[in-house]
Amino acid sequence: MISIAIDGPAGAGKSTLSRKTAENIGFIYVDTGALYRTVGLKFSRLGADTNLCCDIEGILADTTVDIRFVDGEQRVFLDGEDVSDDIRTPAASMMASAVSAKPPVRAFLLEMQRKLARENNVVMDGRDIGTVVLPNATVKIYLTASAEARAQRRYKELMDKGTTVTFKEVYDDMVQRDYNDMHREIAPLKQADDAIVADTTECNLEESLALLLKIVKENADI
Ligand code: C5P
Repeated sequence: MISIAIDGPAGAGKSTLSRKTAENIGFIYVDTGALYRTVGLKFSRLGADTNLCCDIEGILADTTVDIRFVDGEQRVFLDGEDVSDDIRTPAASMMASAVSAKPPVRAFLLEMQRKLARENNVVMDGRDIGTVVLPNATVKIYLTASAEARAQRRYKELMDKGTTVTFKEVYDDMVQRDYNDMHREIAPLKQADDAIVADTTECNLEESLALLLKIVKENADI
């Protein structure tokens, strides 16, 4: 099986570009952030806040998270319910970042991610795919852009969806989330030694996709 690992900070365009890359080369796209968001949603629904002063292991023992592919598109299920649309709010992002720093949560999701890559050709995106989940990935890409560019893209995305937020809120959330993700003790966001850096600050979507496809095709036998 061939695996393409794409890591990087929030708003670098990982989801969109990974999905399009996967489509282009006929692989499945696995969005691992959605898994952390789904676990975060479970905790939110139980009334937890980002301090997570609760019985994490007990709650996980009573939680099922599934990924299913409907018409090639990933959907995530929490305890049997399709929550793919509920996990996309800024509050869900912060909760995902909080739960993702907890070792039992990472252990809970690890095998699911590895199994997907054992059984399918995948483009998998996240924070620790090249470093922890798939250390032997065929190609590792660290996708990044300046914080301003990333916040601007995320802001536009939220405005297009009709969400009322200010640019400053989006920017501050993003910088905070990057900080949390890079400084947590377990599986922090960092560039794998053997990752190829793709910086899309100056690129539009088409140029970014072309850059990614070039890297993938030069480094994998596809
Ligand atoms: O990629 P996305 O923004 O949807 O991820 C939400 C959060 O989930 C991230 O901020 C990060 O804390 C966490 N995450 C992670 N490891 C991954 C994917 C996401 O810790 N592989």
